Amino acid sequence: MTVTRFAPSPTGHLHVGNLRTALFNWLVARKGGGSFILRFDDTDPERSKQEYVDSIRADLDWLGLGWDREEFQSKRLDRYADAADRLRAMGRLYEAFETPSELELKRKKLLNMGRPPIYDRAALKLTDEDKERLRAEGRRGHWRFLLDRERVEWEDGILGPVSIDAASVSDPVLIRGDRQVLYTLASVVDDMEMGITDVVRGADHVTNTATQIQIIRALGGEPPRFAHHSLLTGPEGEALSKRLGSLSIRELREAGIEPMALLSLLARLGSAKPIELFASLDELAEGFDLADFGAAPTRFNPADLGPLTARHLASLPYEAVADRLAEAGIPEDIAPAFWQVVRENLTRFDDVKDWWEMMSEGAEPLVAEEDRDFVAEALALLPPPPYGAESWKKWTAAVKERTGRKGRALFMPLRKALTGRDHGPDMAVLMPLMQRVKALEALPAGAAGTKGADGQKTSGGEG
Ligand code: GLU
Repeated sequence: MTVTRFAPSPTGHLHVGNLRTALFNWLVARKGGGSFILRFDDTDPERSKQEYVDSIRADLDWLGLGWDREEFQSKRLDRYADAADRLRAMGRLYEAFETPSELELKRKKLLNMGRPPIYDRAALKLTDEDKERLRAEGRRGHWRFLLDRERVEWEDGILGPVSIDAASVSDPVLIRGDRQVLYTLASVVDDMEMGITDVVRGADHVTNTATQIQIIRALGGEPPRFAHHSLLTGPEGEALSKRLGSLSIRELREAGIEPMALLSLLARLGSAKPIELFASLDELAEGFDLADFGAAPTRFNPADLGPLTARHLASLPYEAVADRLAEAGIPEDIAPAFWQVVRENLTRFDDVKDWWEMMSEGAEPLVAEEDRDFVAEALALLPPPPYGAESWKKWTAAVKERTGRKGRALFMPLRKALTGRDHGPDMAVLMPLMQRVKALEALPAGAAGTKGADGQKTSGGEG
C-alpha cells in the first residue's frame, strides 16, 4: 500500500510552491489507493504557530486535498530521543562544540584554500576531558551524524538515477545545543515509523535525501521511494519567493481563484503534458504521472490562473454551484436560469452578485452623447419588465425599423442602456431575467407608455 505525507512546517501560510508538494503527494497516494498523512514538522517551538496549523488545514480543505491522518512532530520527541540513543550507541552520532562563528571561520578558510567547505570532524578527536572542559566553559554540545564517506544512490521518481558523494557533504547536525531535534532526524524517524512508501518533495532536498538514506539504513530501515520536483520560479525565471513571495493560497482564494483552476495548473506545470482544465481531483489523478515531470525549474505565472478560473466556472453545471448561489443571495427559483445565463461571463464567482444586482435592481444606463436621441427613441418602444424569450428580438427589430440602425450600432447602445455595461451574456437570454430597467424610469413621464403603445406589441407580455 502506498503511504505518502505532506510535511509542512507550520511557520507560515501555504503558498503555491508547497501546495505543489502537497498535491503531488496527495495524487501519488490516491493513484496507489493508499493513504495521505498530513504531518506538521513543528519541532521548532519558537517559529511553529497554531495559527498556521489552522490556516494550512483550511487551505487544504478548501482545495479538497483531504488527509487520512494527522501527526505532529512535537508530540513524538521521545521517538526521536530513542533513535538518537541508538545512533549514539552505534557510534554514528557524535557531540561537537563549535560555535556558529567558529564554523563560519573554518568554512572561509577551506574556501580560501579552494577546498569544499565540509566540516572537518575536529570534534571526533575530543577526549572526555576536552568535552568536560568545554561544558565547564558553558558550551552546550550539538550532535552530528557520522556519514559514511561513500556514494549514495537512488532511483528518483522524477530525476531518474541520482548519485551523491557523501564525502562532499558535512556531517549533518541532528540535535542542536538546546536539545532541539532537527528535521533531518525527526523526518527519518517519522517516515520509518509511519510506513511512508513514497516521498515527493522539492529539489532543494536532494542532498538531505542522501544523508537521510544513510540515517535510515543506520537505523535498520529501508528508504522510501524518493522523487524531487523542480522548484517553481516566477514567469521570468526569478526566484518565486522574491517577486511572488506573497502568493499564499489564501490570497489566491481571496482573489477569486477556483481550486480546480489552481490544481489543474499545478498538476501539469513542468510536465511533458499540456495544461488541461480538470473537472475534479479524480479526473486529475487519472492522468497524473510523476515520470512526466522534468528537472528544469518550472515557471509559474499567476496570470494563468484567471482564464482557467473563468473557464472552470463556465463549465460548471448548476448543481455544482447551487449552494454557493444561494449563499450569494440568488433566489432559488431563478438561480438555475440565472446560472445558465451568467456562468460564461464571470472572472470570479463573486461576480454573480454584480450580475444579480443589475438584474434585480437595475443598472445606471450607459449612454454615449452621440447615442442619446437614438436610445431615447428606442426606449420609447420598450415596455417595463417582465420580458420573455422573444423580447430582445422583437424590440431590436422594431428599433431597427424605426431608426434604420443595424448591427453593432444598433445593439451595443441598447445593451449599454439596459445593463450599464458593454459586455455580458447574450441579451436575448439576459432580458427575461431583468426585473428592473432604470433607463426606462429616467425617461420623461409617460414617454414609454405613449410611444410604446403603438411602437410594439412586441417586447412585453411573454415573460
Ligand atoms: N518540513 C519540511 C519542509 O517543509 C519537509 C520536507 C520533506 O518533505 O521531507 O521542507
